[in-house]
Amino acid sequence: MKFIKYSAAVAAATMPALALAHTGHETSGLMAGIAHPFTGLDHLLAMVAVGLWAAQMGGKATWQLPLAFIGTMMLGGLLAMAGVAVPFVEAGILASVIASGVLVAMAARFNTTVCVALTAAMAMFHGVAHGAEMPLSAHPVSYVAGFLGATLVLHLAGIAAIKAGKGALAATAARVAGGAIAFAGMALAVA
Ligand SMILES: [Zn+2]
Repeated sequence: MKFIKYSAAVAAATMPALALAHTGHETSGLMAGIAHPFTGLDHLLAMVAVGLWAAQMGGKATWQLPLAFIGTMMLGGLLAMAGVAVPFVEAGILASVIASGVLVAMAARFNTTVCVALTAAMAMFHGVAHGAEMPLSAHPVSYVAGFLGATLVLHLAGIAAIKAGKGALAATAARVAGGAIAFAGMALAVA
């Protein structure tokens, strides 16, 4: 029962029936920035998965992976603002959802540096996807602040899901959630 309840809670946290939203969305202001990672299923799934993975790794990785994600996402945004074109951004974001889900499903453990590099590579696409539109935003700084804050909350949600449920059942539930995230990424990719 505990396992089912825990799985349902993780699924509820990661699976709001919300759509991918990269074009035509509001890009001005704090609320729009906060809303976007929560309403873009691609961002939400990858960000929660990074939190789950960070907590699975434990130790320093618990904070290093979220920091690597947020820092590289900011860098990607700045590169895009500077006019650096990165190809296959949407595909890269979807690949990051699938990859992060698979890593959580496997409870993959590598050298922390490798994990940080993988996380940074995934985050780059999420930042690049939004940097280009920032000069068009009326309130870019508050939008970015909201976006980064929401990202941190999603990472922490993933970490909290693992920390809250101790034991083998919780670890298994987290891996099941990772599998679900990978499948959702595949579904988004073929949608
Ligand atoms: Zn987006």
